[in-house]
Amino acid sequence: MLPTFHKLFIKSISKETPQAVSIQFEIPSHLQNDFAFIAGQYLMIQWYNGEKTVYRAYSIAASPYANEIQITVKSVSEGDFSHFANTSLQVGDFLEVSLPQGNFTLQTVMGQSKNYLALATGSGITPIYAMIQAVLESEPQSRFGLIYGNTHPDHTIFKSQLDALQIKYPEQFTVQYVYSQYTDEQIRQGRIDSDLIGLALQHKFGLYEWDTFYICGQETFKEESVEALISHGYQLEQIHCEWFSKPKK
Ligand SMILES: Cc1cc2nc3c(=O)[nH]c(=O)nc-3n(C[C@H](O)[C@H](O)[C@H](O)COP(=O)(O)OP(=O)(O)OC[C@H]3O[C@@H](n4cnc5c(N)ncnc54)[C@H](O)[C@@H]3O)c2cc1C
Repeated sequence: MLPTFHKLFIKSISKETPQAVSIQFEIPSHLQNDFAFIAGQYLMIQWYNGEKTVYRAYSIAASPYANEIQITVKSVSEGDFSHFANTSLQVGDFLEVSLPQGNFTLQTVMGQSKNYLALATGSGITPIYAMIQAVLESEPQSRFGLIYGNTHPDHTIFKSQLDALQIKYPEQFTVQYVYSQYTDEQIRQGRIDSDLIGLALQHKFGLYEWDTFYICGQETFKEESVEALISHGYQLEQIHCEWFSKPKK
């Protein structure tokens, strides 16, 4: 069954990378409570492309405590809505947006002390970015580690924001960037695979036992990452996954 859609005004659009834009919606005061969300949830967009109405899911890439609804859309090759969002959508336009939904969530608890480790590739960072902000803002005793794969730093969504968070929360937040088409002394080149996850768990993230894992990216990345974590002794119940499946045409 289709969710209910609300026509929301776009109050800002900003370029994150050459292929990704962030879109912020204005939420009317009578809908503020309905649009409250848990970090990791997503919205559906209903959009008429000139021939037919299509539906696309986008994770909310904002802190649940910021009173903002933001999505970040990466243009995919021959993409329909993602291309439109990156090239034609403008401040002042309206989009039909559903209420937040989904079970890939991280509900913070004041005073809780937990170690979270996330693995993301490309636009899979969006729900994870909401989770990172939620934990850093509301669980000062918790830690968050991130292994984040991209082709190149210039194509890394939220790179400057993540770097700023590492500086602001040095004891709590650590990122390991992995690039497939870029190298320097500090940064690993290649893909996030079982070997790389094993090395990261032993070295960069080796000081702690990790309680809960969040994985977001393409389906094959998710499968490989889950296998790697299980082979390193973690349990399936500790691992939460979201993958950006292809929309039904
Ligand atoms: C729960 C959920 C959350 C999501 N969150 C985000 C998000 O935060 N940011 C974001 O950019 N995207 C996100 N997506 C993906 C998004 O919903 C669209 O699938 C994506 O933007 C492509 O839509 P489109 O209309 O541009 O492409 P389409 O016109 O539907 O497809 C264009 C071409 O790309 C292929 N394609 C489309 N999507 C995929 C895919 N996921 N993997 C492989 N091939 C694909 C199609 O087969 C086709 O060949 C999410 C998906 C899900 C299910």
